[in-house]
Amino acid sequence: MSKKERILTGDRPTGPLHLGHYVGSLKNRVSLQDEYEQFILIADIQALTDNYDNPQKIKDNILELMLGYLSVGINPEKSTIVIQSQVPELAELTVYLMNMITVAQLERNPTVKNEIRQKGYRENVPVGFFTYPISQAADILGFQANLVPVGEDQLPMIEQSREIARRFNSLYGQTFVEPKEMLSEVPRLCGIDGKEKMSKSLNNAINLNDSSDAVLEKVMKMYTDPTRVRATDPGHTENNPLFIYLNAFHNDKKEIEEFEGRYRLGKVGDIEVKKRLAEILNNFLEPIRQKKKEYEKNIPLVNSILKKGTEKGRGVVQQTMRLVRKAVKTDYFG
Ligand code: ATP
Ligand code: MG
Repeated sequence: MSKKERILTGDRPTGPLHLGHYVGSLKNRVSLQDEYEQFILIADIQALTDNYDNPQKIKDNILELMLGYLSVGINPEKSTIVIQSQVPELAELTVYLMNMITVAQLERNPTVKNEIRQKGYRENVPVGFFTYPISQAADILGFQANLVPVGEDQLPMIEQSREIARRFNSLYGQTFVEPKEMLSEVPRLCGIDGKEKMSKSLNNAINLNDSSDAVLEKVMKMYTDPTRVRATDPGHTENNPLFIYLNAFHNDKKEIEEFEGRYRLGKVGDIEVKKRLAEILNNFLEPIRQKKKEYEKNIPLVNSILKKGTEKGRGVVQQTMRLVRKAVKTDYFG
């Protein structure tokens, strides 16, 4: 049997998982875990770069992420879940990789630029936050990942990881695999406010652990077609979050087409579509909620999955670090 290619993906433990995570990355992780050797990194060190004043929040969300993974179908027999801070070799690798990239290159990263603006840092960006793409490159390269399933906002990170790998390899000889991104069918799910990205930080998310009442309430508040005043006005379905969500979460394409046709003709009101969408989302979320309840009854098991996964993951990065130290000639004592 040929050796499986490797996946590295992950999340920041900054809040509960939401529908954007599901369609952008989690769904791919679940379907790829048979075919690939998959590592999932809980990026707590990265989460601290913009939450260093609230470490308790990061700590609490680690369990939340674990429960989320397991309840959407990440199978710990097939996927290895690792906690970033417990693999100190990743921090060591970050330091070496810092020499492979310039301040100007980091400044050009559009995702980081955007996040700096959103967070209102202006001139006061913490160095840790500014340089997180390097630490993320260390995560990806440290695991020698071939493939990284991510949402669209992460493309500049993968591109920079590749550039860093190339530079290192050309200076010191072949050491790192050059990673490729994998985008899903919905690489960027908009928020319920119609804003371009559903995000934990923007308060516009439907979370995987929202109750069915909360889902209904959020869907009823959803932004739709701003040009439509009455249900009898012809509506726009393109760029309309209602239809974006229907297409992302409903398998019955005929029903969606029928709704779209009626919506465009002004023959169905927002409320009817919203009620049906809430029902569809709740049908999708119900088994996830149930599975989460099961795992909540066995937290020691969840913790032991994380501990075992972290030990295995650390072993992989330690192997990479032996190559790296040799390459940069810091392997003084063998
Ligand atoms: P934060 O606001 O703390 O950055 P986040 O909601 O952006 O949180 P991350 O942990 O940064 O979540 O992202 C985890 C993964 O989910 C990444 O691969 C990211 O691209 C993907 N992702 C996040 N939000 C979306 C979205 N709205 N649509 C598609 N993919 C998404
Ligand atoms: Mg993010």
